[in-house]
Formats: sequence, structure tokens, C-alpha cells
Amino acid sequence: MAEIITVGEILVEVMAKHVGQTFEQSGEFVGPFPSGAPAIFIDQATKAGSSGAILSKVGNDGFGRLNVERLKRDGVDVQYIGTVADKTTGIAFVTYKTDGDRDFIFTLKDSAAASITRDDIAEAMFTGSRYFHIMGCSAFNEEMIAAFKKAIAIAKAKQVKISFDPNVRKELMENAAMKEFILYALSSCDIFLPGEEELKYITGLADEQEAVAAVLAQNASCVVVKRGHRGCTAYERDAVFSAKPYRTDEVDPTGAGDCFAGTFISLISQGRSTEEALKYANASGAYAVSRKGPMEGTATLDQLDAFIKERGAQV
Ligand code: ATP
Ligand code: MG
Repeated sequence: MAEIITVGEILVEVMAKHVGQTFEQSGEFVGPFPSGAPAIFIDQATKAGSSGAILSKVGNDGFGRLNVERLKRDGVDVQYIGTVADKTTGIAFVTYKTDGDRDFIFTLKDSAAASITRDDIAEAMFTGSRYFHIMGCSAFNEEMIAAFKKAIAIAKAKQVKISFDPNVRKELMENAAMKEFILYALSSCDIFLPGEEELKYITGLADEQEAVAAVLAQNASCVVVKRGHRGCTAYERDAVFSAKPYRTDEVDPTGAGDCFAGTFISLISQGRSTEEALKYANASGAYAVSRKGPMEGTATLDQLDAFIKERGAQV
């Protein structure tokens, strides 16, 4: 039994060593680093004090073992991670542009994680759980969408709450199946954690207040808006909490949102107040960007307390 459950991709990330490096020219890369948005989320939720489990698939290779060993070391329940004999663990190659943008080459769609099916979702996994966390980026094929729909139905029947981080690029909303799923997950979730731009293009409402009101009129009782280096806001039906960003030296933005959500959901699941969960989630995102490597920036509450003490809130 795990308090927090997630389903989705496990990957390794291999990163360009120098800013300005491109895929069109030979160059030096560093890695592999453990990655995959749901894997980062569950690693962080576990470090923040919850029991957590992830259902995923890896290849029978070093990249898979690197990930499984890291998750295990950090206390994540890895019993639902399967090994696929004829596929490799997914890889994300990343380069950094001089303007701060990133370029990716993903092998996700042909990777072991892409062979998760609805039959892998077992009711027993949700027994005694408090939150089931969904990431929109994991709904990248028809079978994954079916798996999520089955998992949502089981979670609802077992009174497991649903948290949803869309984590999708705008272009993906042009894919009809993806759009339908994103809107379905949105209408099913209890806690919604979008980026500020995501909130607008998913709801189709340019005004944040209107967009939040539209989401709160559905099933969700809390909408947490992430604003990168400008902090975050949590909206409930009768309360709003905003948090200013912590001072940080941004070396790698990948994984900030996943760490933020892992900490937020873990603390809410532990019965902490929204305000307190937001404070630690805000610190968790800032801490994550100060570490190179997507999962290298996960942190315990003690580490976040030390970070908060050292940095204080920006004014
Ligand atoms: P991801 O790239 O992981 O999907 P995201 O877009 O979901 O990220 P962000 O808004 O980039 O999420 O970051 C999540 C949170 O982390 C922010 O709301 C903020 O609290 C914190 N954070 C991120 N970047 C910074 C930064 N440069 N300085 C301070 N805090 C930051
Ligand atoms: Mg995100």
C-alpha cells in the first residue's frame, strides 16, 4: 500500500555539456541521469515523507536499473515497475540554447514505458491510497489514455483523490484524443496544478481568475498555478494563497514543476494546510532548478527547511 500512486514514463536524460551546443554537431554530453516527470514527482513525494509507488516499464538495461535503484534508494515502492525484454528504457537528449530555451530528442514513444497497457492497472494498487497523480505528458498513446481512464475509475470508486499536472505543450492540445483526455482528467481531479500559460490554453480562458473559477466550478477544490521564477498561487473556493519565489541560482529548469507537485501533494496528503504545502512546494521548485539533472533536485523537508532558512523569500 502506498499513500501516493502515479503511473507513467521512466526515462534517462542525457544533457549537453555546453550552452549553445546543438544536435546537428558532435559534442560532449553528460549523463545518464534518472528522469521521467512521474518518476521525479514520486521520488519527491516520497522524500517529503509520504509512501509512494509508480507503475511503469523499463528495458532490461543499465538505464532502467539506474532509475529503479535511485527510486528504491529514495524509498519509492518499485514493485509495479516492470521490465520489458524487447524494448529499451526511454532516453531524452537535451541541449540548451543561448536564449534559455531547450531542444529535446525523445525516444519515449518507442521505449519500454510506451508499452504500459490498461491491463497493467490493478485495483489492489490503489487500496489504502490517498492520492493518484496524473501527468498529461504520460498520456502519449491510446493505450496510456485507456490505462489512465481505468485508473481514474478505480481511484474514484476507492475514494482516492486525484491530482493532475497537465504538463503539456500547447501543440498537443491540437491532438483530439489528447485534448479530450486532458479535459476529462481536469473534470475528474481534486487538485489541478497547471503552469500559468497551460491554465489558459486548457480552459480556453485568457483571464486567470475566470479560468480558475471555471475549474473550481467542476470537481476540483484547489488550483495551484506555477509561475516559474515568479512564484506560485493556490486558489480554493474561498481562499487564495500566493508565494513569492525563493532566490535561487537556476542551472537546470527541468523537473521544477514535478518536484513542486510532489511536495505539494505529499504535504496535503499528510494533512498539512494549503499555505504550508505551498510554501514547501515553492521551495522545492526553487531547490530543483539549482541542481543539474532532472531528479538530482529532489529534497527532504529538512533540506527544504535549510534552503528556506538560507534563502528567505524574494521581495
Ligand atoms: P517543468 O519544466 O518541470 O514542467 P513547470 O513549468 O511545471 O516546470 P515551473 O513554473 O517552471 O513549473 O516551476 C514550478 C515552481 O518552482 C514555480 O511555481 C516556483 O515555485 C518554483 N520555481 C521554478 N523556477 C524557479 C526559479 N527560477 N526561481 C524560484 N523559484 C522557481
Ligand atoms: Mg510542468
